[in-house]
Amino acid sequence: MITESHEADHTPAVDHTPAAPHMTPDELRLWGERFLDWVAGYHERIESFPVLSQVSPGEVAAGIPVVPPAEPEGFDSVLEDLDRVIVPGLTHWQAPGFFAFFPSPATGPAILGDLLSSGLGVQGMLWASSPACTELETRVMDWLVDLCGLPRRFRSDSSGGGVIQDSASSSGLCALVAARERALSTTSGASLADLVVYTSEHAHSSIYKSARIAGFGADRVRYVDSDPTYAMSPEALAASVAADRAAGLVPCAVVATVGTTSSLAFDPVARLAAIAGAEGMWTHVDGALAGAAAVCPEYRFVNRGLGAVDSYCFNPHKWLLTNLDCTAMWVADREALTGALGVTPEYLRNPESDKGTVIDYRDWQVPLGRRFRSLKLWLVLRWYGAEGLQAHIRSGVAWAQQFAGWVRADPDFILAAPAPLNLVCFRHRGGDDANRRILAALNDSGRFYLTHTVLDGRYTLRLSVGTVATRAHHVEAAWEAITEAAANL
Ligand code: PLP
Repeated sequence: MITESHEADHTPAVDHTPAAPHMTPDELRLWGERFLDWVAGYHERIESFPVLSQVSPGEVAAGIPVVPPAEPEGFDSVLEDLDRVIVPGLTHWQAPGFFAFFPSPATGPAILGDLLSSGLGVQGMLWASSPACTELETRVMDWLVDLCGLPRRFRSDSSGGGVIQDSASSSGLCALVAARERALSTTSGASLADLVVYTSEHAHSSIYKSARIAGFGADRVRYVDSDPTYAMSPEALAASVAADRAAGLVPCAVVATVGTTSSLAFDPVARLAAIAGAEGMWTHVDGALAGAAAVCPEYRFVNRGLGAVDSYCFNPHKWLLTNLDCTAMWVADREALTGALGVTPEYLRNPESDKGTVIDYRDWQVPLGRRFRSLKLWLVLRWYGAEGLQAHIRSGVAWAQQFAGWVRADPDFILAAPAPLNLVCFRHRGGDDANRRILAALNDSGRFYLTHTVLDGRYTLRLSVGTVATRAHHVEAAWEAITEAAANL
């Protein structure tokens, strides 16, 4: 039997296990200054590096010990390693000569926003798990609706709302899951194997991947034909849908693109959405790069037809001066999304969620946990203001258009696709091999990085403008290097 005196003998003593060697706030201040100084210095030195990394596979790994440190290390050696091992292994996306893929700008305000997000270390899965994380996100997503002239129904005070996803890929996946659930709940007797997704061969590869992850069969993703400008053909969509209906299948979703990856083609969203709407299908629009152009009233053509779609996304982490990762996604009917993605275990229940009066963004995305991403978008929007964002978009378009003009005027080159914004697809008339050699010459020079695509079976060069450090003279220098490479063919 336990007696009172026996209990007193076992009062637990304070445990003396030492805590881990955490960085103190003073040390954070000290190192923070040095690391931020290093980052600022990196941006200052950006033009001194070869744009495309010149390391061979395995070279970076060879500079990093095979075993992790057993004892705490000083951070001076980390700063040295950054310069010695990491920087040579970087392709410099922030370099002024970076014209590859699409831009992914790292800007001061977004860097600081990410720092705040890491520093605060909150997890915004539920409103209750950090109300500011949810409410700031809702507010900046509403701001973007207004800044970009998007349909009112995307606003949180309407039927829809916006959410920050990690990527356009995740946005496509969430949209297709919502589309799948809506089709299954509204079509009696339909099974997942019957559902069909329609997109174009010029849509981003993430759409096919998302469809497969969402459970659509590989033979249930249709690549609808496109017209000579690489835009999806509404007539071909209607024909494909009719053929599937006749075969007893269930048309489920159309995924259109405004600004395709290859050539910045614009699918005719209004006409596609009208067909989808009449068939009870979900329309998702991927505006990954081009959506940002809508901050300029003169480029609002990128929004055409969005009033009739179910979901839409674009990437501030491509052209709107916000560091990876930050994709803005909106839905017209938020309940269609949260109904498809919401799961509530007991351990996440709380009074506010139960009342249904707050947004829990975990129900709008695939993962549970989420960072405070809206901070960086908030800082970007406040630093630049609408005018600053417009200046960035307008300069990117102006310089790309000037480049397109030089291509048009040169008898040895041809524009390979319409160039309405900041991407120019072009080729030398000498054929695929000539274009490959021009690209290699440019990229080997260390001054530029361009990438290619294939349009109509022909090797095509792409020049995409939008990096923060790029100025008109860098674009001009790229054109000079291209014509010089062509002269040396
Ligand atoms: N959609 C389009 C049209 C794109 O151009 C890209 C990337 O370039 C993506 C989707 C994929 O974007 P993310 O990396 O955000 O998934």
